[in-house]
Amino acid sequence: MDYISTRGSAPALDFAGATLAGLAGDGGLYVPRAWPRFSDAEIAAMAGLSYAELAQRVMQPFVGECLTPERLLELTRAAYGRFAHAAVTPLVQLDQQHWLLELFHGPTLAFKDVALQLLGLLFEEFLSRSGGNLTIVGATSGDTGSAAIDAVAGRAGIDIFMLHPKGRVSDVQRRQMTTVLAPNVHNIAIEGSFDDAQAMVKRMFNDAAMTDRFAIGAVNSINWARLMAQVVYYFAAALQLGAPARKVAFAVPTGNFGDVFAGYVAAKMGLPIERLIVATNVNDILHRALSNGDYSQGTVTPTAAPSMDIQVSSNFERLLFDVGGRDGLALAAQMRGFETSKAMQLTNAQREGAAALFSSARGDADDMMRAIRWAFVETGETIDPHTAIGLHAARTAGIDPATPVVTLATAHPAKFRDAVEKATGIRPTLPGRVGDLFEREERLVDLPGDYAAIAVYVAAHATLKV
Ligand SMILES: *Cc1c(COP(=O)(O)O)cnc(C)c1O
Repeated sequence: MDYISTRGSAPALDFAGATLAGLAGDGGLYVPRAWPRFSDAEIAAMAGLSYAELAQRVMQPFVGECLTPERLLELTRAAYGRFAHAAVTPLVQLDQQHWLLELFHGPTLAFKDVALQLLGLLFEEFLSRSGGNLTIVGATSGDTGSAAIDAVAGRAGIDIFMLHPKGRVSDVQRRQMTTVLAPNVHNIAIEGSFDDAQAMVKRMFNDAAMTDRFAIGAVNSINWARLMAQVVYYFAAALQLGAPARKVAFAVPTGNFGDVFAGYVAAKMGLPIERLIVATNVNDILHRALSNGDYSQGTVTPTAAPSMDIQVSSNFERLLFDVGGRDGLALAAQMRGFETSKAMQLTNAQREGAAALFSSARGDADDMMRAIRWAFVETGETIDPHTAIGLHAARTAGIDPATPVVTLATAHPAKFRDAVEKATGIRPTLPGRVGDLFEREERLVDLPGDYAAIAVYVAAHATLKV
């Protein structure tokens, strides 16, 4: 399997190359040249596999020759062995139609561990073959940062620079990043929003003064390998609910469109998915784009679900590429227009292609509180604010009552204790695996929201690529 850029001019890469590259040199994102497809019989035969075995089965077509099936299985066993739940991503029933897929049993309590624990191992594997060094530069609205840092702390050949918007992540989120004192971990608090941080990261990938000296890698969901790892749990959930014989719908708390795009990939691979419901909070660019084709950037409103406080969703470009006829040069022109005017209109092909599988819903602070309370009172489950936006969307999407709807539970409720306590009256306790988070020493630097300052800092602390 090789990987091509959504903007049509970067060279194609194999899986290892795309994993280490992150963003393509032409500013696009890597996607597989074609979608591998499983038959119904092949999907039926996946029932009963362990999570690590299922992960190997689903991901092997994307990995191609870069890892043998035996080696890939060793890596998935190592990655998912660190989860606190034996099922890795357990499915919990809420009522006769609704289910929660708990994706927060990894080391940092958010779904991002599912992909990043594997990605850390893939980086190490591919770097040890080439003998090079990787400089990971990422932006986080809260959860990516800690999951990425946990996945690569202390690993040979890797430095990680993680930017977060100062004061806009929760205490638990910040401490999960800044209390990791491994010398290859560099936390940077910047003045500005997540979108400002992400724009600076993207700029670094296209800055020859940096890329000539450093191999800049990505852990944000612009990295294809992350999305690939997330495809697995759509299979895991659907198989438990009767796939391939029965269709399932998914409601996905969405920010950068990575998690829900993995659902789209699962559908492309043959998993029978009835609907993918994109749940947004009041930062609703995706809801507007999917409901009337208007992809225009607003200003970010901080909410109790900070990982969804995003006005530019990087991975939406992958969907626009795929449903818009895979014309990289046309998409490059469209995206350049967006970058200049901060707004674009989807083409008819893009709108119709997206509408075939995606619905969307927007939830505000009241909807979120009501959903947390409903889950708590009616089912005894405590859910976090992101999951609550998803559950609100799931319960208002008008899905046929005969179709099971799975809401992706993307964070552990203890990660957002204030909001949960406000809704339920009970303060969730941090699971033991997080340990003495509030006693540990923190290490971070404050920098202005200015690209030059970030580039100087990274260049001063990173290791040359060879
Ligand atoms: C990252 C994150 C999201 C958004 O996921 P995307 O892949 O960016 O759409 C939602 N909820 C939580 C808790 C997250 O950490």
